[in-house]
Amino acid sequence: MSAPAKAKTIKGETGDWEIVIGMEVHAQVLSESKLFSGASTRFGADPNSQVSFVDAGFPGMLPVINEKCVEQAVRTGLGLKAQINMSSIFDRKNYFYPDLPQGYQISQYKNPIVGEGEVLIDLKDGETIPVGIERLHLEQDAGKSLHDQHPDSSYVDLNRSGIALMEIVTKPHMRSSEEAAAFLKKLRAIVRYLGTCDGNMDEGSMRADVNVSVCKIGGYEEFRRTGSFKTLGTRCEIKNVNSMRFIAQAVEYEARRQVDLIEGGGTVVQETRLFDSRAGETRSMRSKEEAHDYRYFPDPDLLPLELDPAWVEAIRASLPELPDEKKARFMALGLSAYDAAVLVSERETADYFEAMLAAGAEAKAAVNWLNNEYFGRLNKAGLAINDGPVSAKANADIVAMVAEGLISGKIAKDVLDIEWETRTGDPRAAIVEARGMKQVTDTGAIDAAIEAVIAANPDKVEEVKAKPKLAGWFVGQVMKQTGGKANPAAVNAALKVRLNLPDEG
Ligand code: ADP
Ligand code: MG
Repeated sequence: MSAPAKAKTIKGETGDWEIVIGMEVHAQVLSESKLFSGASTRFGADPNSQVSFVDAGFPGMLPVINEKCVEQAVRTGLGLKAQINMSSIFDRKNYFYPDLPQGYQISQYKNPIVGEGEVLIDLKDGETIPVGIERLHLEQDAGKSLHDQHPDSSYVDLNRSGIALMEIVTKPHMRSSEEAAAFLKKLRAIVRYLGTCDGNMDEGSMRADVNVSVCKIGGYEEFRRTGSFKTLGTRCEIKNVNSMRFIAQAVEYEARRQVDLIEGGGTVVQETRLFDSRAGETRSMRSKEEAHDYRYFPDPDLLPLELDPAWVEAIRASLPELPDEKKARFMALGLSAYDAAVLVSERETADYFEAMLAAGAEAKAAVNWLNNEYFGRLNKAGLAINDGPVSAKANADIVAMVAEGLISGKIAKDVLDIEWETRTGDPRAAIVEARGMKQVTDTGAIDAAIEAVIAANPDKVEEVKAKPKLAGWFVGQVMKQTGGKANPAAVNAALKVRLNLPDEG
């Protein structure tokens, strides 16, 4: 079930405050070529090796819209459950910057290609919260200034110039650093499922501007009720934060700063700030007064973008199963909301889990096994799921062998360790049989172990008659005797008979 966002309050000297957050995310469109030119978008190429005359702002060059980029924006809009605007307009946003040779960025201002939508974010306790999407528009990226290549000159690399970006703007619907980080995580998952952005934050494919304000308790509720921003505080925008962890840190720092400022008699001025990840603080970059007047106007070289409804419907029909739908399907298999959310957060992880099911593992047992054993080992080794040494089929076999009573949970961990090293792909045949780890169901061996435990602990034998719960202790001792190889169910049954214990209900 979805519920409205819950406030995480900040204690101040004059009372409690709440945080309000809205984000503007720049996501680089996955496309071979740029938004208005045929130059390549490949990451990591030699500087200025992927620059057309359009990207370099040569006079008289005309932009030509790349259909693939439009399709990716529409696909993303559909994935955000958003309104697709059948007519949108490209504007010129005018400003000077050394890495912007045209002297303007082509963007969408009043008429974006995608309107209002919604993203459900998944919180740690399994709860989901809707975050409103205001809009998504297409725009060009700028080039990159390089200040560290020469002692007294700066260089400009235009490879990035003209690459298509989607700017995704949320409503101010997030209310804690956790929610802000969870939003970006979910958005990243959605675009990766859709194949519209690779979500690679290290390479700058996804970066977020985080708007933060604080208000006294009740201000947000009033905003949601009336739609008026008047009861919200003045916001500051923290530019270009490029990791989930930094987003959380920046929000915490900025909210505290604003509360201290207001309570100290100051006022928050609307400004752009930078997050210094090393110092863990935000710093003023420019205030609203210095803000640019961009003199937006429709780009005369580009016609309004008119979409064909049939084309949009074809894109809708080609959408993959998205994280929320996958999560619902996994929950129907008996998984908790939390477990399902973890599995679907990366498409590869969900696929791996499904491959385990296809190989015969039971859903709940499979997710427990992954959570308790395999994910931890992958994390420790710094490996992504598809780079791990144990196949889905091999993990499914181990889980199935435990379910069949063929090996104990303890042996299963050893089997996993061995499979991790040997990568046989077939732990059932290769390991369990070969190393004699097959679980002992042979009642002779179990009986011998039981007799040994009884002989060594006459006092406990007396005790268990009055306290049948103590049977668990005996099971543990017998398991120890057999080196963990005994079948716990068989041990239980044999002990019950031998110690003459009642059947519990
Ligand atoms: P601008 O046009 O100046 O960029 P927008 O109205 O587009 O301003 O808002 C930009 C971002 O700031 C959006 O993500 C929005 O949700 C967020 N935002 C607006 N007001 C607030 C506020 N009071 N507190 C936090 N975030 C806000
Ligand atoms: Mg804005």
